[in-house]
Amino acid sequence: MVKRALITGVTGQDGAYLTELLVGKGYAVHGMLRRASLFNTDRIDHLYHDPHVTGANLTLHYGDLSDGTALRRVLEKVQPDEVYNLGAQSHVKVSFEVPEYTADIDALGTLRLLEALRDHVAHGGRKVRFYQAGSSEMFGAAKPPQHEKTPFEPRSPYAVSKVAAHWYAVNYREAYGLFICNGILFNHESPRRGETFVTRKVTRAAGRIKEGLQGKLFLGNLEARRDWGFAGDYVEAMWLMLQQDKPDDYVVATGQSHSVRDLVETAFSELGLDWKKHVELDARYLRPTEVDALQGDASKARKVLGWRPTMDFKTLVKLMVKHDLGLAQQEKTLHRAGYDSPARGAASTGVG
Ligand code: NAP
Ligand code: GDP
Repeated sequence: MVKRALITGVTGQDGAYLTELLVGKGYAVHGMLRRASLFNTDRIDHLYHDPHVTGANLTLHYGDLSDGTALRRVLEKVQPDEVYNLGAQSHVKVSFEVPEYTADIDALGTLRLLEALRDHVAHGGRKVRFYQAGSSEMFGAAKPPQHEKTPFEPRSPYAVSKVAAHWYAVNYREAYGLFICNGILFNHESPRRGETFVTRKVTRAAGRIKEGLQGKLFLGNLEARRDWGFAGDYVEAMWLMLQQDKPDDYVVATGQSHSVRDLVETAFSELGLDWKKHVELDARYLRPTEVDALQGDASKARKVLGWRPTMDFKTLVKLMVKHDLGLAQQEKTLHRAGYDSPARGAASTGVG
């Protein structure tokens, strides 16, 4: 029997890596995506085949975490064995600008999906396993290293919403006996990371500065520390959680932490650039409340799931810099041929 997985947030960084992983394992993957006025499926286009072609193993369905009816309809249609709830307004700084929307999608959206799941399981009698995408941001002000027993001290509307989603998930597991796992994932990055997250913002800028396409990089707090891992490794942990005999919650992290300053230094020196000549502070990128230091203790995931990260910080930054240097070179070639590329979002909006 071919297993069926439903992924919300399939167009995101993790959605793309998870789809690749599951398709590789022989799953029929169904992704939920929001309608947009332009195509926003760049990250999964290489996995998508015309549904008229036999053997297509990624099917897309319109839906939105704000729309409970659509969630129910998609669940009924797909009849999944596993659901991965990755959909979210996932940017911490943006959550200060749109707190109500963030709560609606990240907290209430999870509740809507859990309600749909509860009824789907009760009426259909099928067993469904559910993964909830929790975040190290939930630990917030708690002292590192953070692990499953560390109390949450959220410091942003995003983090508060993710804490609510976490406890909804725990409650639905206990109240209705559903197979639900919370992954508490520390920051994970890749060349597919959104360009307003600090890693990608830095590696994009380093490549563009190297190619003479931009002169300055404006950043906020350089002292914050994060435990950065590779997204490809982290989706493996999501899958492993749903393959266990019992549902549980797990921290997923590398155990190593670096400052934003280390990140900038590593990325720029990879291209032979002196970051101090290019980086400037812009207060627009500071947050009203900051999370100073995240460093995860993933001993439980290592012991129970047999999971460990394959990529260290330096290798990850190198990979991203190499990718983004390639993008900058393409951009330069286009520029020379008379095509102008649009202004980069992170530099122009002030929310990245
Ligand atoms: P991402 O790249 O920002 O992707 C988020 C996905 O959610 C996108 O597919 C987005 O669709 C979708 N989405 C946004 N609003 C939605 C809505 N109203 N209804 C349905 N879908 C919606 O995030 P990611 O890095 O892949 O992260 C995946 C999940 O893990 C998120 O829940 C995030 O909060 C959580 N997480 C991430 C990290 C990390 O370091 N990456 C760490 C811990 C937890 P569009 O493409 O249409 O915008
Ligand atoms: P987060 O950990 O989910 O908030 O991931 P981000 O990549 O958005 O931010 C990581 C850290 O980098 C946070 O402590 C930010 O305050 C810090 N940071 C410093 N400058 C910037 C910036 O210009 N953009 C972003 N996104 N973060 C920045």
